[in-house]
Amino acid sequence: MNNPRINQSRLWDSLMEMAKIGATEKGGCCRLALTDIDKQGRDLFIDWCIKAGCSIHIDKMGNIFARREGSEQRVAAIGTGSHLDTQPTGGKFDGIYGCLAGLEVIRSLNDQNITTSRPIEVSVWTNEEGSRFAPAMVSSGVYSGKFDLEYAHQQIDSDGISIAEALRAIGYMGDDEVGQRDLHKFFELHIEQGPVLEQENKQVGIVTGVLGMRWYDVTLTGTSAHAGPTPMSYRKDALYAATQVFNELYQIAERGEAEGARCTVGELAIIKGSRNVIPGDVTFTLDLRHAELAGLSDLEVQAKQVIKNVAESTGVEIKLDNIWDSPPVAFNDDCIAAVSHAVENSGLTYQRLVSGAGHDAVNIASVVPTSMIFIPSIGGISHNESEYSSPDQVGDGCQILFDVILNEANK
Ligand SMILES: [Zn+2]
Repeated sequence: MNNPRINQSRLWDSLMEMAKIGATEKGGCCRLALTDIDKQGRDLFIDWCIKAGCSIHIDKMGNIFARREGSEQRVAAIGTGSHLDTQPTGGKFDGIYGCLAGLEVIRSLNDQNITTSRPIEVSVWTNEEGSRFAPAMVSSGVYSGKFDLEYAHQQIDSDGISIAEALRAIGYMGDDEVGQRDLHKFFELHIEQGPVLEQENKQVGIVTGVLGMRWYDVTLTGTSAHAGPTPMSYRKDALYAATQVFNELYQIAERGEAEGARCTVGELAIIKGSRNVIPGDVTFTLDLRHAELAGLSDLEVQAKQVIKNVAESTGVEIKLDNIWDSPPVAFNDDCIAAVSHAVENSGLTYQRLVSGAGHDAVNIASVVPTSMIFIPSIGGISHNESEYSSPDQVGDGCQILFDVILNEANK
């Protein structure tokens, strides 16, 4: 007998229907967490889940759990899901794909009158993106015990509105304690958001973990001086020193690329910069990532050495402040094996990879056996209105999720 199939066109239609909520002119989506637009998206998701026979449970972070009962009563559910919120100029797939694919799994089980032994729960995690409220992935963070509920409730947006106020304003401050949903295993299906699967011509990514990352603020203090009268060799040019640091750091990361090393300077500022003034004060952000903890620590050691050398050779004072640390995550071996098994049986082409981006699954992995499944992102583009994966790609990933959940829920 052939494996039961999911309904690819129904999934695609649901994605396109959801994308109308917060649709942007350039074909993307803007559904910032806990706004009225986010509420509309949540309401639609819940409406669809209820029509698919699910019971709905909402916790005190507004996390939604849509539950399809299994034949056994007191066993933990197989969990799947992702997030509904987007970046201000986000796309139609990031996050929402994982939620609607979970719903499609349930709809397909219903179509085919399949009862699983374990229940299945599809979750929507509040404020994954972190663009309205920092930190990102805050609600899966509370679920996993990484953040206190009170701390999370107190986080404010740029208008001073707290998460607790925003939850109440849209009616999504649930009654359930955060973290009480009993999950046996958790699988998050997501777009890759990078170029690897497309470049390697693979249909599915078996995600084995997530890169660790460390964030730094770097402050360079030289001497501001007139651009004309100060010969090059007399200068303490903070921007010049910064470029020396960039060159060295990028080369270190390029040499370690195969092991998952990444180095990014995403923000750079010349303080009180002026056309004819040698920059005296410069700041930049530094984002270091690596697949292994030892590799990440080694990147930091090398960065510190580079900074010391450049400070000595340029006479510019350089300060490195570590502001955030997220260790690499290795996903659960059984969950990775479950995904590998489904992918190998499917005949789809695949590649094992490590996620470069953070996901709710990273938090959940600390309390529930977890892994992820990726599908290709066209052009590797995401957090962008032109983010795209084709109907076939979307369907393939959902079919793998279905096969994994069906197997795991009947074990
Ligand atoms: Zn996402």
